[in-house]
Amino acid sequence: MTSLGQAAELFFEESAKIAGISDSLKSLLITPHRETRVEIPFLKDNGELQICIGYRIQHNRARGPMKGGLRYHHHVDADEVRGLAALMTWKTAVVDVPFGGAKGGITVDPRTLSIPEQERLTRRFVDEIHDIIGPDRDIPAPDMGTSPRTMAWIMNQYQKFHGFSPGCVTGKPVELYGAQGRTEATGRGVGIVTLALLRQFGKSVEGTSFAIQGFGNVGSFSAAWLYHSGARIIAISDISGAILNRDGIDIPAAQRHIETSGSLEGFDGGKAISNEDLLCLDADVLIPAALGNVITKDNAADIRAGFVIEAANGPVTPEADQLLQQRNIVVLPDILANAGGVTVSYFEWVQNQQYFRWDLSRVREELERSMTRAFDQVWSTSRERDVSLRTAAYLLAIDRVSRAVELGGF
Ligand code: NAD
Repeated sequence: MTSLGQAAELFFEESAKIAGISDSLKSLLITPHRETRVEIPFLKDNGELQICIGYRIQHNRARGPMKGGLRYHHHVDADEVRGLAALMTWKTAVVDVPFGGAKGGITVDPRTLSIPEQERLTRRFVDEIHDIIGPDRDIPAPDMGTSPRTMAWIMNQYQKFHGFSPGCVTGKPVELYGAQGRTEATGRGVGIVTLALLRQFGKSVEGTSFAIQGFGNVGSFSAAWLYHSGARIIAISDISGAILNRDGIDIPAAQRHIETSGSLEGFDGGKAISNEDLLCLDADVLIPAALGNVITKDNAADIRAGFVIEAANGPVTPEADQLLQQRNIVVLPDILANAGGVTVSYFEWVQNQQYFRWDLSRVREELERSMTRAFDQVWSTSRERDVSLRTAAYLLAIDRVSRAVELGGF
């Protein structure tokens, strides 16, 4: 199976060929600016020493301070972090926020650690990397296995070295210099660009059916936003399985069910089906919002939706992407579709840098403006150059990053 990093590099290579950039520039754009790997010793609650390995890979800083999540997961390795760091460079460029790309992680299963252990691990990691991060250098954010609370610890530890600097991380709790609207931002952004895409095909939200895989942060907020915009969502799922209701699922009821029981299991708003069946349903729009690599060469021929919106990172493999294109299935790529989160992270950083708070309506308006503008630019590039939306998004990103590199000089 192609890793997320390899997939991002393949998509980049294809678009770089079309963009006609020189081999040396291509190599410069692929090579990370700096890779940091650190040993993180910390004490467990029982007094034993545990040692973890942490990474921060800073891919490109031509367009601004580097930006990207921090992941705590037992599968984290340098390859994965490198690929995700590059993806962040292209994502920030597509939505045109003045950031570069980075990613970090610690190889650990956070479920095996108590909260005080997680805190000691996080603070010790900051001790090792505080010199290479910061509001004007590289700004981490939550990702798999980390949360606003992790960001609060990072800010607190960073400030011990550098003084008051709330802009050193984003995705912080709202009570602690976080932004209103950050939690909903990725899902909301998915909704905004999905409707913009449907409009280009003369379709209305009311007349369109949706199937959404994953009901976590991205999936549930995408579903809620689309539902309140009038969409008929016929299937939703989480790790416990999927629910189908052709008349349309009551999304607020599903949210209430999750709040009380922790998963969709036992939700009686439809018939239980499998996650694999959800992907191949006869729905107009399919939104994979859970995991990478779920649409592969093995099931691409069975996808029946006309539109696939990549709300997760890398849900469609490069081989499957080719097969979907051959079948004229329109794929809205992850570097545009799920960029609402990094966009509102940028708004959080702006507020921190200016010591000025925006209200929720301003965050939502600015998000809508940014996502709509990015969609329009990707759409028109795709028409002008006669390429897929994915290639168009990469072409735009490569052009913006290359120009910044060249204008800055060497
Ligand atoms: P999350 O952990 O909040 O939710 C993940 C959801 O997927 C849960 O409902 C979980 O039950 C479900 N799931 C897990 N394994 C599954 C399986 N095998 N089959 C079906 N469902 C399964 O995560 P999230 O923050 O919503 O992120 C989802 C995806 O979006 C990831 O690829 C992430 O990298 C990407 N993403 C997230 C953000 C963000 O702001 N949260 C931003 C950009 C991209």
